[in-house]
Amino acid sequence: MKRYNDLKSFLFERYGVKMVKISLDGGFTCPNRDGSIGWGGCIFCDERGAREKEPDASEISLQISKKITELLEKREAEKFIAYFQNFSGSYDKVSNLKEKYSAALTDKRVAVLSIGTRPDCINGEILQMLSALASEKGADVWIELGLQTSGDKTAELINRCYKSEIFPKAVGMIKSYGFSAVVHLMFGLPGEDEGAMLNSVKYTADTGVDGIKLHAASVMRGTVLEKMFRGGRYKPLTREEYVNIAAKAIALLPPEIVVHRLVSSCKTDLLVAPDWVRDKPGSLIALEEKFEADDIVQGKDLNVWRGAQDA
Ligand code: SF4
Repeated sequence: MKRYNDLKSFLFERYGVKMVKISLDGGFTCPNRDGSIGWGGCIFCDERGAREKEPDASEISLQISKKITELLEKREAEKFIAYFQNFSGSYDKVSNLKEKYSAALTDKRVAVLSIGTRPDCINGEILQMLSALASEKGADVWIELGLQTSGDKTAELINRCYKSEIFPKAVGMIKSYGFSAVVHLMFGLPGEDEGAMLNSVKYTADTGVDGIKLHAASVMRGTVLEKMFRGGRYKPLTREEYVNIAAKAIALLPPEIVVHRLVSSCKTDLLVAPDWVRDKPGSLIALEEKFEADDIVQGKDLNVWRGAQDA
């Protein structure tokens, strides 16, 4: 029985072939790291994307064609999603963005351009450029927004440097161009209990997002969160706690929202805690077992929650 609207099935229904995501380094930074609006970034954000030299468009074409060749040789996919994952993937001059996005879409088998960014790094000029590019290249566009939490107190604590109220506006703009808006939420941020985490799920569902990615807050080496963790001021979620919250989140989500990720994985040496995030297969099994045990189906609790809202 299909218990949630998973990305793999969605992609197969929409594109009719197996698709694989190719992560690209666009050489972007973030306004919350370079001093434009903040320094040092969110307290959990590590420097993994740091580089000595910014890749130009030709390097992006090279990154993508190398990956496509490898994947085709292994017969792992027939179409691809080009994903600008590092830092804020729309934080640059529009002309530079256009060059980099175009480079990612050079190969016709790239059917989706996916951009991970912040809601305050999206504007009409960027969306217009993307709209023209998408119709020229015949690709879909997904914009992934790292909200993490809808709670402004937590947002301040994690140094996110924007208020949640700008998120629904960004989602509305993205959708008005016919693009998909995908939200990233993080469970287990400091100071948040289950109620706060599930409030973020309800808040984002109400904005009309098309997709969601769920993550467990992880302590990475060299971050402020590591200092809090080592000082005994932060305790990450256990796998069991995460699984309980994620199952409740799925039960609250409207069935049409595509679940792009149920749990994140992290295998780098930079990971300090929790150790269980290294084992994604184990987490997925624990989630499946929880869904089975509690008979969780996406949207199962939606009417209860929306009914309470209307009362
Ligand atoms: S907004 Fe994203 S890239 Fe920027 S500091 Fe926060 S987590 Fe890192």
